[in-house]
Amino acid sequence: MALNTLQDLLVEELKDTYSAETQIAQALPKMAQAATSPQLKAAFEKHLIETQNQVKRLEQIFQHLGESPEGNTCEATEGLVKEGKEMIEADADPQVKDAGLIASAQKVEHYEIASYGTLTTWAKELGHHEIADLLGQSLNEEELTDKALSQLAESRVNAMAE
Ligand code: FE
Ligand code: FE
Ligand code: FE
Repeated sequence: MALNTLQDLLVEELKDTYSAETQIAQALPKMAQAATSPQLKAAFEKHLIETQNQVKRLEQIFQHLGESPEGNTCEATEGLVKEGKEMIEADADPQVKDAGLIASAQKVEHYEIASYGTLTTWAKELGHHEIADLLGQSLNEEELTDKALSQLAESRVNAMAE
């Protein structure tokens, strides 16, 4: 892989993120199915729809850049999804499993927040303002999802204390 310009790096990182999002779109229905709390199920289902939209946003960006979205597998997401799968399949108390699913999901969100934060900055730096705006929308969704998951984790802890 030849990375001579920041533009080359932007495209590579976009491909990595595209691979991440497509993997996450496949994993989220399984996360929703494994969750016990109706609120957690709903949060995963909501984020599945956002994730499908994020995939479309990235496709729009590749079209704009005249590049293909294929060609870079996100190995970090492969690992995170694998850890999530271990939690899905674990023989665990339902409340404990929900806590584990939230933890797995938040690791994914944090990875995405790092990716979109960087991508947005690079796109701005390169003068791709429309692309930066699209990436910023996805970044915002990831941040809100992370916050919603933190709140669900807290309400679970409060419920257990009662
Ligand atoms: Fe995403
Ligand atoms: Fe990656
Ligand atoms: Fe996400």
